[in-house]
Amino acid sequence: MVSQLVEAPKSGEVRDYKMLVGGEWVDARSGKTFESVNPYTGRAWATVPEADDDDVDQAVRAARAAFDEGPWGKMTGTERARLMRRLADLLAENAQEIAAIESTDNGKLLREMGGQLKALPEWYYYFAGAADKVQGETIPSDKPNFFVYTRREPIGVVGAITPWNSPLLLLTFKLAPALAAGCTFVVKTAEQTPASTLEFARLFDEAGFPPGVFNVVTGYGPTTGRALVRNPGVDKVAFTGSTETGKQVMKDAADHLAKVTLELGGKSPQIVFDDADPEAVANGVVSGIFAATGQTCIAGSRLFVQKGLHDELVERLAEKAASIKLGDPLEMETEMGPVAFREQLEKVQGYIETGTREGAELVRGGKRPDAPALRDGFFMEPTILAGVTNDMTVAREEIFGPVLSVIPAESEEEVVRQANDTPYGLAAGVWTKDIQRAHRVAHALRAGTIWVNSYRTLSFNAPFGGYKQSGIGRENGLESVNEYTQTKTVWIELSGETRDPFTLG
Ligand code: NAP
Repeated sequence: MVSQLVEAPKSGEVRDYKMLVGGEWVDARSGKTFESVNPYTGRAWATVPEADDDDVDQAVRAARAAFDEGPWGKMTGTERARLMRRLADLLAENAQEIAAIESTDNGKLLREMGGQLKALPEWYYYFAGAADKVQGETIPSDKPNFFVYTRREPIGVVGAITPWNSPLLLLTFKLAPALAAGCTFVVKTAEQTPASTLEFARLFDEAGFPPGVFNVVTGYGPTTGRALVRNPGVDKVAFTGSTETGKQVMKDAADHLAKVTLELGGKSPQIVFDDADPEAVANGVVSGIFAATGQTCIAGSRLFVQKGLHDELVERLAEKAASIKLGDPLEMETEMGPVAFREQLEKVQGYIETGTREGAELVRGGKRPDAPALRDGFFMEPTILAGVTNDMTVAREEIFGPVLSVIPAESEEEVVRQANDTPYGLAAGVWTKDIQRAHRVAHALRAGTIWVNSYRTLSFNAPFGGYKQSGIGRENGLESVNEYTQTKTVWIELSGETRDPFTLG
């Protein structure tokens, strides 16, 4: 039987949301709320509570109680896995509606969200499979008469902070391994995109998890988010967002020595060698920079092209960019939606101006579209800047919008040097038919994910994370469960004899 728990948004509707804390749906104790704006219409479509320090503390206490005292802490991995599979089923049954909620909140295409929500249950199935395999090892003791073993224990209460560009996917990267490990969880959503996480919380509640295992607080980053990170009841902070905020989060978490994982920004290179297939490259470049309106941490925003293919590829890309259909994110034929909110649109416009001022050539786009149907939304044309050098602002800073910087490339050695000449190291693309070069360059690039002859593929079972200032730790893959556990070593004395108290060992 299908459990239909989430309703897709209706035109003109304004939804009032509450937060999930300790298994109860609550308002902020101050009664304060704020609005979430639909970036396609430019109008508010939901209101959510604005949590303050006390509300956050309440949520952390609920998570702590669920961890220390509730049934969750006593459950076996097999029992936790059962609940996770039920959650995955509910997510699959409500995928379309949640996809529409998230599209309405952040302007991401329903076309993309539909695929993403179909894939999300797989994360919970995969990590449910890991829940009964969180295990230690026996250590062959170098001392006589000792039996030594380790236990991998859940780290405790996780405080998670998510960004607006993919709220549910990036929540899932954290929540699924955390549940497998046996942790409890408080998430603070981005202020622009609280709705899909709150709808997901409804499914979580329905799946039968004990109260307090999963809690959602909504509010602003520097207040609500910071209160969560600084709360001494939080044992681990799992953050996705900008590098600048990530550094602040790490400093705040250090005050109470909470463990951190940080998934941060990027300025990922796509490197095209002369022998690559131009049509495959053009498609890969479009998926890397114009899909999701370029608002992805893995955006392939620096395109290095060797001379032999440069002009042909720029021409192809300009044609493809011109044919991209901008429109309502909820329409299935739309290929690019609006930028998620007004300030982000202004930021993108500012970068394009800086790029041309610093000497880049505007090949395509660069302005807001004129079509009357797109006037209310925060739209920006897919933009291509050519003749960029790696020291220009548009090549150094993360734009987080549909702006591609094309940089002419010379030798393999020089292009690898330039691709690595960035504070970031999240991902990179390599386009070549030469298998030796493909591996050589993949090994030389300092980034957490390298795609060869493709771009922008992710999976629950493949580790994901950044080198350098793109992050610390890994999400996805079995190793991500370790980010939510700590190791305890147990020494058992076997002889029963009294030992010399003044020697070690
Ligand atoms: P952001 O401004 O850093 O915000 C991220 C989250 O942090 C939001 O929930 C924000 O709340 C909160 N926040 C802000 N200040 C805080 C503070 N002092 N303490 C605690 N939380 C705080 O980033 P964004 O603009 O939302 O997201 C875009 C960035 O995320 C880009 O840099 C992108 O590359 C990165 N990103 C990285 C990955 C990855 O996996 N590596 C994936 C997606 C996105 P408010 O929304 O209320 O400000």
